[in-house]
Amino acid sequence: MKKFAYKFAQFMIGRRGFDQFSRDLSIFALILILADVILPGKADIFSTLGMLIIVYSYFRAFSKNLAKRQAENDWYCTFIGNKIRAYLKRDRKNFTYFKCPQCKQSLRAPKGRGKIRVTCSRCHNVFEKKV
Ligand SMILES: [Zn+2]
Repeated sequence: MKKFAYKFAQFMIGRRGFDQFSRDLSIFALILILADVILPGKADIFSTLGMLIIVYSYFRAFSKNLAKRQAENDWYCTFIGNKIRAYLKRDRKNFTYFKCPQCKQSLRAPKGRGKIRVTCSRCHNVFEKKV
């Protein structure tokens, strides 16, 4: 077992392993496969897609083209991953979330204050909102 761990460590030299993009891809793939279990009779399209995504996430983890994988991960984090994380981490118990009607910037305010005047942090549009 020790020998295997050593060999695996040797194998991983010069490879990225699982970055945020690969981790999130595998989670997404597992959700797809689970969806196939819960929703039968869909010609296994979700689990097939899920398997392909898992293969791709392993390909990324073991790839030696570090620059390309880094660029993919950066793209993912900037445009998708961090937005999903921010959305999941929202404190819905204490805050109301809404969008600026002018620029669609996502904003939040503490709950239970009644009607408040909001100034958008991006475009400085002022509007009233019930929270
Ligand atoms: Zn705005």
